[in-house]
Formats: sequence, structure tokens, C-alpha cells
Amino acid sequence: MKNELSSLSPLLGSLPLPVGKADLPAGHEQSAHKPSSHERAWCAAWALHLTRPAESFALATVARDEAIAANEPHAAAWAQLCRALAGYRWIGADIGQMRADFVDAAHLMDALNDRRGKRLASLLDAVLAMKHGHWPEALKAYEKMSGSFDLGAMDADNFYLLLGLATSHVYCGNLADGLRFGYIGLNLAQYLDLAAEEVTMCLPLGVALMAARDHDESAELFNAADVIAARIDSPMLLKTTRNNLGVVLRRIGGIYNIARAQQLVAWVLAEPAAMIGGQQFAHYSAAELYVLLGQMDDAEAQLEQARATLGAGRGAYPLEALDGAKLNFILGMIASRRGQVAEAIAAFAEVVTLLPALSAWRFSDRAKVFEELAEVLARQGRFEEAYVTQKKSAQDYLTNVEALNRARHVSMQVREQMRRVQLELDRESRERRHLQSSHTELREQMDDATREARRLKDAAMHDPLTGLPNRRHLDEVLANMLLVAGQTETPLVIAYLDVDHFKQVNDRYGHAMGDEVLRALGTLGPEFLRGADLMSRIGGEEFCVVLIGCGLEAARKRLTDLLDVFRNQQFESDGQTLSAVTFSGGVAVYPHDGRDAETLMKVADRRLYDAKHAGRANVCCVGSDGIL
Ligand code: GH3
Ligand code: MG
Ligand code: MG
Repeated sequence: MKNELSSLSPLLGSLPLPVGKADLPAGHEQSAHKPSSHERAWCAAWALHLTRPAESFALATVARDEAIAANEPHAAAWAQLCRALAGYRWIGADIGQMRADFVDAAHLMDALNDRRGKRLASLLDAVLAMKHGHWPEALKAYEKMSGSFDLGAMDADNFYLLLGLATSHVYCGNLADGLRFGYIGLNLAQYLDLAAEEVTMCLPLGVALMAARDHDESAELFNAADVIAARIDSPMLLKTTRNNLGVVLRRIGGIYNIARAQQLVAWVLAEPAAMIGGQQFAHYSAAELYVLLGQMDDAEAQLEQARATLGAGRGAYPLEALDGAKLNFILGMIASRRGQVAEAIAAFAEVVTLLPALSAWRFSDRAKVFEELAEVLARQGRFEEAYVTQKKSAQDYLTNVEALNRARHVSMQVREQMRRVQLELDRESRERRHLQSSHTELREQMDDATREARRLKDAAMHDPLTGLPNRRHLDEVLANMLLVAGQTETPLVIAYLDVDHFKQVNDRYGHAMGDEVLRALGTLGPEFLRGADLMSRIGGEEFCVVLIGCGLEAARKRLTDLLDVFRNQQFESDGQTLSAVTFSGGVAVYPHDGRDAETLMKVADRRLYDAKHAGRANVCCVGSDGIL
């Protein structure tokens, strides 16, 4: 079911329905909504309604019934509409049932006041007329509906209207309009990337192009449709496309095209799927190909099969004058080539009586009928009649030439327009790419600026010589550290360390040696820290250490250990060595010595002073006031 859904995902994505998002391909799964079984069935029904309408009809029925049982009127209404649309596409569907389905869907949509649903359900009159082969009525109905659709918008719903307009215009003899709507529809399907719609739209458009004698363009269209139809796995669309492709290739002629037409006819005859328009069309095109190849027995066998198909009933499609004309035309050609002149004349004459009921483009072999008839009449020695008939062929051709020219002009115009739209789209996408790249550039600049700001902030918070946090940093975090210590009732130690006789180090060994000593303490000190402890350089040779969760004794031990290690360090600068440098320390304990940073710092500073007085190289934890 997943594959089937993804083949029509854009249409599903555009529907404001309770779509089972979990089943939809990337880009449609915004919600974690788990689809219910009727939602799944309904999604599948939508996905299949153009490619495999019979299956879609069954799935939509299940979805509708389950949605009704689950008391979900919105889902039920759309499942019902889907059932109706599938019935419309389904060759074997019962017309009465389809009508009832559309009416029900319209009522449900009315009750929900769903504008889109109502609009689609209102296709009923048009599709009914189409199913009955009443093309002028279908055209009128479609034209009446045009007002409620915005044909300029790239709206997936427009597809149905454009398909109907294209088909009914062509079958009503308005070739130019048929081509125009066909191209707009094709453009829409391609723009929205709707594969099944694209193939479906190629059918009336390709037939119209064939009627306009633009066989090459028609073949190109059917070839493209063939590739897509094979991809979307729709035997019905593939069979119909291939049959049409076979017809147009036969008309173009030439060894290669005829050979391909033969292959296509063989494939179509072997394919059991239903064909849009009816299975008899497969037999007509096979028979006409066999006539061309001179295989009259095979042609006759196909004619028989066409008759049998029609005799068995055309399912949803009523018998049209077209079938009578096709059967007699083929019969006449077979008889003519077998030398059965009288039979041929009778058959062609029958076609001629049917012509007024057929629009110029519904049966595009009109001129050929007169030609064939004239030829057999001449063979019978009825030259005068042959001459008149031949003239009719020419006349028919001439009357149509104007319409043909107009149609080809429209076709070219629309194609040119589409090409321009494509160029515009290409230009836009180029601009978008350009915008994207400037966006990326801007992004990079912003990243650079952010990095720079971070670097500056870092620099502002650190001491460049030792790399330790500076006084500003300490001030910023100490208040917070004390707050946390208070909240978690954790002891905290603040110690001031000051290098002893540091001035002398500078004086005797040089400033560089002094720096070396400071750097060493900056590296060594942090090794005696744990977790969130902090060591900061707060002044020249003065450091502040904050030890968290550390009692007085532990702090004394860690600092004296640090002092011992530091004392044993050797420093080198300018070829001189120095060791036995010491520091003095003054320790204040939170909360014993105070609760705020300022008080604690003062206490630590006082004890550092005491340590210096006591001879340096020691850590003073108890003040001279003796308090602890
Ligand atoms: P005491 O034992 O009493 O602390 O004596 P002391 O010499 O260490 O103290 P005093 O405050 O007199 O000297 C501090 C010296 O530290 C003065 C100053 O030149 C030096 N100093 C300050 N910052 C730096 C620095 O970044 N690098 C170097 N090499 N020396 C510095
Ligand atoms: Mg000092
Ligand atoms: Mg000092």
C-alpha cells in the first residue's frame, strides 16, 4: 500500500483531508497521527483512482463504510467522493451507481459545507454526459463549471475540469480549444508532478494532435506518457497509451515505425487489462495495421473480435456512431483489398451515412473514407461517382484545412507559451539558487561574526598569559557559585594565592622568567581542581582559587600539596634556571567566614596578609584573630 500511495503523493498532499500522515512519503509526515484503517483505505483509494479505478472504488467503499461506523462525516464524505470519481474513471462501472455516488457525495459535502468537495462533486452532470457520449452536453456542463474553478491557479482539482474541457472540445469539433485546454492540463500535471494525471491528460491531447495531423508531436507525447505509465504501474493507462502510440506510429509510417506499431499492437492484444474508451479500440487499431500490412485474414479476425466486444456490451460506455463508422470503414478496406468491390462500396456508403453524427475530429478518417470509396467506385467503372466522391474527399480536406491550421497555430502558441513559462521557471530557479548562495554567504558572515564575538568575549574573560579566567570572569560566576552552594548546602572555599617575592624574580631573572613562573602556576593550579572548581588570575602575581564542596582541612591539604609541587618546579629563561619559588595563601570558608563574595574575599585577603607575615610559603586558614 505504501508504494501505491507514494505514486500519487502530491495529490494527497494537496487534499485537506484526514490523511494518514504516517503512510505518506517524506515531507507529508508532519504529524505523528496514526492513521485508522479507514483513513488508510481512503488514502489508497485516492492514490489509485486514476491508475486502477476498480480497486480504488472497492477501497473507497470500505473507507466510507468504516468512516460512517466511526462517526467521522468528513472522512466519509471524501471517501464517497473518491468512490464517485473512481467510478467515473472505471471502465466497467455502472453509470447509475456512479450518478448515485456523486449525488450522495454532493449531499455530504453540502452538509459539511466543504467548498472543494462540493466543487468536485458538481462534475456529475458533465461526466454523465461524457459517459453517454453526449459531447455537446458534456462541453456545456464543463463550461458552466469553469466559473467555480480558477483555471489560472496551479490547483490539482483543475485537472478534472481541464481533462473534461479538452476531451469534449475535441469531440465537439473544436480542435483548437481542445488542444489549448489539453496543453494547459498537461502543464498543470507536469508542474504538480502528478504522474497519473499527466498520462491521463496525454490521451485526449495526443488524439487531438493526431486529428490536427501533428503526428510527430502526438507520437512524442504518447512516447513520454508510455514511459510514465510503465513507471506508475497502471495496466489500464499503459494499455490505452500504447494503443494510441501504435495508431500514431502506423500513421507516420516507415519501416521502423510500422515495426514498433506491430510490437505495440501485439502487446496491447495480450494485455488483459481494461482500456479507456473500450477494448474494441485495440481491435480496430490491430485490424487497421493488418490491412496496411496486407494480412487480410488477421484484419478480419480482429474485426470479428471488435464486434464480439461490442456485442458483449461496452460496460459503462454506450454504443456510439463511432463504432459503426470504424467497423464499416475497416470492413470496407478489407473487402476492397480482397477485390470484393460491391461489399466495399456498401460498407463505405454505410460510413458516409454515419458521418453527420460524428464530429470532424472524433473520426479523423473522413477524407480517407471518400478516397477509399472513390477508388472502389472507379474499379467498378463508376467513374462519375468516383470523381464526385474524390472531390468530396478534397472538399472535406479543404474545409478542414482551415480548422487544422488554426488548431496547429493554437498548439504552437500554447507550446511557445509553455516554453516561455518553463524559461521563466528556470530563471526563477536560477535566481533562487543565486539567492540561496547569497543566503549561504550571509550565513557564513554571521557565523564568522558570532565566532568573533565569542572570541572577543572569551578574550575579555580570560587572561592571555596563563589562559586562566580573569577577575571579571570570577566576579561574574562567583555570586552564582555561592547561590548554588547556599541552595545545596555545600561548603565552598575561596583562597587567595600570591607568589612570594615575585618582584625579586623579575628583578634578578628578568620579566620573562617572571612570566614563566606565572604560566607554570597557571598550568599547575588547575591540576589540583575538581569538577566545577575554578582558578582565576586576579592580578599581577595573584590568583584566586574557588573549591566547591570542599571543607577547610581538605582545602588546606590541596593547597599545600600545590605549594609543594610548585616549590619543586624548575623554571628556565634566557639560559638561567630558577627553582624553589613559593606562594602564600589565605583561605576563607563559606558559610563560616561570610555568605557573600565581598566578605569572603576580604577575609581571604586578610589571611593572605597573615600568611605573608608568618614568613610566606604557607597557607593560612585561620585568621590572626584566631577565629575558626
Ligand atoms: P610579596 O612576597 O610581598 O608578595 O612580594 P612581591 O614582590 O611578590 O610583591 P609586589 O606586589 O611588591 O610585586 C609584584 C610584582 O609583580 C610587581 C610587578 O612588576 C610584577 N608583575 C605584575 N604583573 C606581572 C606580569 O604579568 N609579569 C611579570 N613578569 N611580572 C609582573
Ligand atoms: Mg602581590
Ligand atoms: Mg607577591
